[in-house]
Amino acid sequence: MKQSPSTVMPAQAEFELQRRGLIDASKRVKNGAFIYVVLWVIACQSGDFHSRHSAFVVWNAIGLLALGVARFSLNHYLPRVTPQTLKSARAAFRIATAGHAFYFGVLTIISLLWPEAATMSSFVTLIAATMTIGGTMIVAIDPFLALAYPIALMGPVIVGLLTHYTPSNGVLGLLATVFSVYCILVSRAMHDDYWLGQRSRVLLEQRARQLEVLSLTDPLTQIPNRLFFEQRLAMEWATARRANLPLAVAIIDLDHFKSINDNHGHPFGDQCLKLAAEAFQTVLMRTNDEVARYGGEEFAVLLPQASLEGAMSVAQRLLESVHSVVAEHDGMVVPMTCSIGVCSIMPAPNMSPDDLIKRADQALYQAKLQGRNQVVGDAT
Ligand code: GH3
Ligand code: MG
Ligand code: MG
Repeated sequence: MKQSPSTVMPAQAEFELQRRGLIDASKRVKNGAFIYVVLWVIACQSGDFHSRHSAFVVWNAIGLLALGVARFSLNHYLPRVTPQTLKSARAAFRIATAGHAFYFGVLTIISLLWPEAATMSSFVTLIAATMTIGGTMIVAIDPFLALAYPIALMGPVIVGLLTHYTPSNGVLGLLATVFSVYCILVSRAMHDDYWLGQRSRVLLEQRARQLEVLSLTDPLTQIPNRLFFEQRLAMEWATARRANLPLAVAIIDLDHFKSINDNHGHPFGDQCLKLAAEAFQTVLMRTNDEVARYGGEEFAVLLPQASLEGAMSVAQRLLESVHSVVAEHDGMVVPMTCSIGVCSIMPAPNMSPDDLIKRADQALYQAKLQGRNQVVGDAT
């Protein structure tokens, strides 16, 4: 329940964000893992290149396919990434994705400069250009790949063309450079949009959780408030009804609390309420048991599956826990006592959670009448 509002994204949320980004990026490129080999095989069909250089075609197809398989397998591992393995997983993803692009970039420049491959050079160039723009948009989530992908694909082409200078190679190299820069600029805009959206989503989720916690917590004692108690009671009521199990409630009211305030001041009264809440919490052992601040100096305790006898013994310990609270004012310990009303019932269709509360309240009233500082069980 306890959580403090913060504007800083916690480490866990930051990891979740990075993990989500990595998985999103890998999902986007997953289908493209085998596209290189397919396009390579198709491009090699132009003219008679594939029959004259079948070994070259086949070995490169195997190489592209192997990289595709490696990338596809990596994609299955990524959702299991942990904070410890995030860095290495991201590095592997980047190397595999950029490496694949680089491989195709090298094949492109080979087919452009190798006279034997002249028949297929325009196809491979077209494929490389299409892959660069499509791929860069797809991997833009990752800031490294947004830059590395177009460089890996177009870099070998540009370097190859400019180092084998002819006027047409120069023009083509220049065009490839402008095209790559354009891809990088567009991908940066896409990258910013994606991360802005993701960060806003995480912050909103975080804020919603904080608000939920705040709306269900008592600000003074930091234990659950009445709203939370009523929600839990409704849930436990339904569970008890289905399973045919008892459900018990104890209502605690601090005795003569008005005079504690009157004699020692309101801030001291607040201090007493906090100490009482802490004392009640230490008594409740079972994880399903819950204590909430129900009203001013009233607390309610939910005891799922507790019979009246069981609930009475818990209530007795709650009563004693208040006796041992050391609330000091002006060097003197101010004693505190409380009265508790207990009720346990087997929820039936003709009853409601309100009946349980009412009956525990009546028992509490009885405890007050009988002189306070005692536990009274529902007698009806
Ligand atoms: P009884 O034994 O019959 O319950 O007597 P009581 O004085 O406890 O009961 P009463 O209902 O007359 O007074 C409850 C007091 O609890 C009055 C109110 O000032 C005090 N109280 C309620 N909420 C708070 C709070 O948040 N802080 C402080 N300091 N006092 C509170
Ligand atoms: Mg009261
Ligand atoms: Mg009271």
